[in-house]
Amino acid sequence: MMTETSAEVLAERASFRAELLDSGLLVHGGADGLYQRSGEFEGVVRGVEALASRAAEGNGGARYYFPPIMAMTDFERTDYLRSFPDLIGAIEVFTGGDAEHAAMLFAAEEGRDWSESLSLADLALCSAACHPLYGRLTGELPAGGARYEVQGYCFRHEPSVDPVRMQSFRQHEFVYVGEPDAARDHRDRWLERGFELLASLGLDVQVEEANDPFFGRAGRLLAANQRATALKFEITCPVSSTQVRTAITSANCHESHFGESFDIRTADGAPAHSACIGFGLERIALALVRRYGTDVARWPLAVRDALQQ
Ligand SMILES: [Zn+2]
Repeated sequence: MMTETSAEVLAERASFRAELLDSGLLVHGGADGLYQRSGEFEGVVRGVEALASRAAEGNGGARYYFPPIMAMTDFERTDYLRSFPDLIGAIEVFTGGDAEHAAMLFAAEEGRDWSESLSLADLALCSAACHPLYGRLTGELPAGGARYEVQGYCFRHEPSVDPVRMQSFRQHEFVYVGEPDAARDHRDRWLERGFELLASLGLDVQVEEANDPFFGRAGRLLAANQRATALKFEITCPVSSTQVRTAITSANCHESHFGESFDIRTADGAPAHSACIGFGLERIALALVRRYGTDVARWPLAVRDALQQ
């Protein structure tokens, strides 16, 4: 779905991007939506992460940091192939011998497509930070379900010059897997907690009902259903534009989607329900830069204290 973006919004985004690059907080990574982060920017990201961890008050569950790639068999079970084919990425590798190598180099030297020499590996790029978790939960959960605090890099193939739309970014998530009521409760409590946390940093945040960008004609139905059943909420904030708000955190009920695909069952044998809140670490850091400027040392003391800067 294409939406018209006004010239004014485009200009705002371009000027924010220039500010980020000129200050050195971010360095252009050579492709749209790809950035290298300075130590100063990363410091803010880690401050936000620590703040979110503290908000769990010791009940966030076991904490795991995932690699940016996951097993293809698990990736296929997330259903992203069906729902978001335009956003996904898979990994190709070279498995040939000398002859195939020579053909690949020859094609590369001639400026032709050398990717024909590659084949799909059994690995995909993670689309969401919680995805790698579900594959290992196949089987029966303990009574009352389980909580996890997880973080990982997410890949979304949507090249853009809007600095909030990165192709590679991190989500810090709090996930619950277990009973239906407890899943919704987890989502609702974390939505409130997340809102308070972000508002406490002085960000102009709002909670908004939302839907995922499901692909194609069938996707429109899925999106409408997601809204009708209030499964997804976003915490939004003006970041690269004063007129278009950006989601900096999202809180989701997956119902039994992952429970069924990954065969995760509650203690009474029913497919588990799950829910997660994902703090968009780079987007929150960008929202803070937008609010307080590119010189982190000059941010208000209370904000720097909260972020341990
Ligand atoms: Zn998640």
